Amino acid sequence: MRKLGIYVQVPFCQTKCTYCNFHTGVVAKERFAPFVEAVCREIRGHRRLLRAAGVIGAAAGEGEDDSQEWRSYLVDTVYFGGGTPSLVEPQQLQKILDAIRGTFRTEFGEVTLEADPETVEAAKAEAWVRAGINRVSFGVQSFSDKELAAAGRMHRRADVYRAVPILREVGIRNISFDLIAGLPHQTKASWKQSVDELVALAPEHVSVYLLEVDEGSRLGKELLAGGMRYSAGAVPSDDAMAEFYETAQEKLGAAGYHHYEISNWAKPGFESKHNLKYWKREAYLGFGAGAHSFSGRQRWANAHDAAAYVTAIEGGRLPVEQLETVTAEQALEEELFLGLRQLSGIDVGRIEREYGVALEGRFKSLAAAGLVERDGDVVRLAEEKLSVSNEVFVELMR
Ligand code: SF4
Repeated sequence: MRKLGIYVQVPFCQTKCTYCNFHTGVVAKERFAPFVEAVCREIRGHRRLLRAAGVIGAAAGEGEDDSQEWRSYLVDTVYFGGGTPSLVEPQQLQKILDAIRGTFRTEFGEVTLEADPETVEAAKAEAWVRAGINRVSFGVQSFSDKELAAAGRMHRRADVYRAVPILREVGIRNISFDLIAGLPHQTKASWKQSVDELVALAPEHVSVYLLEVDEGSRLGKELLAGGMRYSAGAVPSDDAMAEFYETAQEKLGAAGYHHYEISNWAKPGFESKHNLKYWKREAYLGFGAGAHSFSGRQRWANAHDAAAYVTAIEGGRLPVEQLETVTAEQALEEELFLGLRQLSGIDVGRIEREYGVALEGRFKSLAAAGLVERDGDVVRLAEEKLSVSNEVFVELMR
């Protein structure tokens, strides 16, 4: 039976991090309940809403109906992302999970909640487990208070040490930590310290991202203006970030983590089942303001503005902001880009057969430059070139 992932976007944060310009709002708690109600309505009414918005009718051929297809799917992964979904009450998360259970065929294997360490409390964590959440993804980002403060994060190093035992105590056996390489004030020594402390806490899964400063964020604007606010003068160079990434690669490998995607490592068996669906181009449905969906043929995204989203759902409309049918050319690019992000690589023979293309020429020069490795039909990024993977992708898409 085909599997379906469900993503729920909760677009609320406690404060705005300096480097971020996501469509997330710092709002009063009273705004959470109407939002959750709208998400539940969107889930329960998704077939009607998608048909009315032209998604289902346009995706299928004459007389076909994608919703029939989705009925045969089994939802095995749910991911609450944001924003900071751990801010909403556990009972509200439970309501959303119940709406999913009542609408789809479900057999939940992995239900992830993104959480900020300072939001974790024992009673809350117990309620998360009762609701069915079995994986928590922490935005740790750094173990240096100086770096956390400069980035505008709410939590401090001590919050991570307080939160992890609480989660273990209530039975969460799958914890993921995010670290960001390139935060203002980060040095070689502070980065090593962060990776060492992470390894000592032994989360089952780790994501390491290179700092991406959004041009519209406070830090982004300051960098563009050449100013010094928000520690703009203390952002590490691209070379330093690449070195930090390589340090993480070494240390995580030595600690028994399996590197399975450019930014992701896992203890054996703890690879993110939900995120693998994105990289393998499998179907997922997104609910909530700003959530993205993919049916295999089409991609669409809900409106980002939470208030506009709630108004649309209350008015019986699906606020689809973007809708596109993926062309064969786009699908091929996604296969290459998403496939090469996975360290298992891509099966060039399969892709050539499926898309009727010859890829030999594209990979020849990359292999000659030592950027990719070839093993029969399988092509993968060379491990020592992962920190410069963007250069490979630019070459490949030429
Ligand atoms: S980085 Fe995450 S927690 Fe910080 S403002 Fe952006 S969405 Fe919110």
